[in-house]
Amino acid sequence: MNTGLQPDTALNQLGFVSRREAQALEAAGIRTVGQLLRRLPRRYEDRRSSAPLHMLQNDETVCVRVHVYSCGWRFSYRRYFEASVGEENDPHGTRLYLRWFNMPYVAKLLATGMNLSIYGKVKLYGGKLTMANPDFEIMDDEDAGRRLVEAAMGGTLMPPVEGKGITPVHTGRIVPIYKGVGGLAARSYRHIVWQVLQQLNRELPAPGYDVAPAYPYWQAVRDVHFPAEQEHHQKARLRFALAECFEQQFRVAWRRMRVQGTPGQVTASCTAYMEELLQSLPFRLTNAQLRCIDEIRHDMACPRQMNRLLQGDVGSGKTLVALCAMLMAVGSGKVAAMLAPTQILAEQHYRNFCKLLAHTDVNVSLRTSDHSDDSGLIPDAGVADDSPRIIVGTHALLYKKHRPHNLGLAVIDEQHKFGVEQRERFIASGENPDVLVMTATPIPRTLTLTLYGDLEVSIIDEMPANRGEILTVLRNPANMKRIIAFMTEQMDAGRQIYIVSPLVEESDTRRQASATSELTRWQEIFPQRRIGLLHGRLGADEKEAVMLDFRQGDTDILVATTVVEVGVDVPNANIMIINDADTFGLSQLHQLRGRIGRGEHKSYCILLSKAKNGESGREKLDVLCRTLNGFEIAEEDFRLRGPGDVLGTAQSGLGAIEFPEWLADMRLIHRANRDARAILQTDPALTMPEHAYLRQLVRYDEDGGVTC
Ligand code: ADP
Ligand code: MG
Repeated sequence: MNTGLQPDTALNQLGFVSRREAQALEAAGIRTVGQLLRRLPRRYEDRRSSAPLHMLQNDETVCVRVHVYSCGWRFSYRRYFEASVGEENDPHGTRLYLRWFNMPYVAKLLATGMNLSIYGKVKLYGGKLTMANPDFEIMDDEDAGRRLVEAAMGGTLMPPVEGKGITPVHTGRIVPIYKGVGGLAARSYRHIVWQVLQQLNRELPAPGYDVAPAYPYWQAVRDVHFPAEQEHHQKARLRFALAECFEQQFRVAWRRMRVQGTPGQVTASCTAYMEELLQSLPFRLTNAQLRCIDEIRHDMACPRQMNRLLQGDVGSGKTLVALCAMLMAVGSGKVAAMLAPTQILAEQHYRNFCKLLAHTDVNVSLRTSDHSDDSGLIPDAGVADDSPRIIVGTHALLYKKHRPHNLGLAVIDEQHKFGVEQRERFIASGENPDVLVMTATPIPRTLTLTLYGDLEVSIIDEMPANRGEILTVLRNPANMKRIIAFMTEQMDAGRQIYIVSPLVEESDTRRQASATSELTRWQEIFPQRRIGLLHGRLGADEKEAVMLDFRQGDTDILVATTVVEVGVDVPNANIMIINDADTFGLSQLHQLRGRIGRGEHKSYCILLSKAKNGESGREKLDVLCRTLNGFEIAEEDFRLRGPGDVLGTAQSGLGAIEFPEWLADMRLIHRANRDARAILQTDPALTMPEHAYLRQLVRYDEDGGVTC
């Protein structure tokens, strides 16, 4: 029977919610039963602990059942209501004095003879055990009042009716603590949730696909709000997390199935351009690079759409691998596009490719929208729109009107800056181009599965041999003297230096070094040196000019914000000084550090920070000094910050994540993945009635994905 409250029941229609309470809830955006229940406790307090009164200690926080022996107003330096309580059948035993300050309503609730469950902190005052403003509940049933009156009028005090005992809500149990709602006492809010749960429809179906039918949804909702045991709320959260994980994995499995069945182009029929390039390079590719190229070629040679992720540490040579793939596509008569997250990067790739391919007849063009206006995207003059070539561009290339014709291969650089939907757009473009996705830095294994579970993965797990070593050290900014001497020495030897600061302009509130005041500071320290300034607020042309000066060695020092984080490549720069290093994320620091160690010179990353051992922010700096391995750093970052923060969720294409714990939980991911695949195996078109919800889920994705 479908009786009881439903998720869409309005709260203001419930008898136990007063008008004032309903208004307060509504102001906080909580109108329905469903909305109320989706608001999970922030934490729990175990108020079950109970000790005999004579055992209580000063400063101990306890929950005890007591009997009120007397109560009334007291006046000392403040007015307060006091109840003198003790064990129920021990009128001469230990007394505890409960005192309520500024809570006059308590006087109306309490009466001598009542039984209470109280929760609070014991304080010893003048030899008396006291408790200030304890949370309390009256443990007598509803006719306690009537019985007390009868007793007071000379009758005997009847024991409460058997089985009508009150279940405590605020005490004597594991109590949920919610984020406050303005205008509503914590008790009242908790009580409303409690009442709602009592009256909730017990056959409430799980929203979406039911991932765990053996654990009824209603029970999980109850367990997460009012768990009987500590494990229960964890168990319930796990169920919700699994549901969230499942939806995400289902989408991934669906995309994977679809892509695997998608016919594609054969884009690796000719490797001549690639071989020409490789022969012209002054170095040999690493074995890892060669292996990745092989994996990619294999995909591109198949008449199926390629969908591959290329992971590798900063500086491992991903770009070159991608270029090889693009040359195969061009050799096969196709257009190959490289999509970069920023203008600077697109221009840098463009320049880099032009240089590498100067001796070949491969045409490279740049399409970005940042320069003057959108018309920067006009097809290249004198080149047929579908003639085979390499096009480098920013995200503007994603949109239909700019999308190149005859596209055979799309390479997406720094995938984490784009979302899944954007990737979908590219993939879904008419000609089913092969797609190669690159990440800027390695990502934790669980995230690879989660975010890119629909992709095949190639990993460059080896660094080129010619790399100068990078030494990373942590220094206190108070001791700049030696650092300055070292900088002078290195600049005299012809090297260049990055100085990175967290903010662009000085702000009083956050006293971090900012790039602009840094510039002045370093100009004073090194009046003879040429110092450039790079930050995100500069226009594209200004940025370009600053970068050009640094690249050509016209400036010795580049003072910058994290604009230099991605992709900037100046092999002669071998020192990076990072101000307030503890304010950056671990992966970000690693990414920054990847700007040095690009040439044959030994490089130095100097982390400036006042963070002491054991202080927050210090641990990641130690990790950074310890290892250069980006895969290891990614896992550490994940461990230190938790999944929610590692992914800017908006960027990750994951949508809102309510239960980030699953992102780090291999068990859940594997289970969800297995379930999702099993469903698609038995019902690939999702026509079975029990899969209606899933059909809707992926259809929604597809509609969202293809519209552009
Ligand atoms: P990533 O994109 O992985 O950070 P890049 O592709 O930008 O790395 O490579 C960084 C630098 O290393 C480039 O200057 C590139 O030409 C060079 N490089 C790439 N592969 C090798 C190699 N096998 N040996 C030596 N240098 C290489
Ligand atoms: Mg790169």
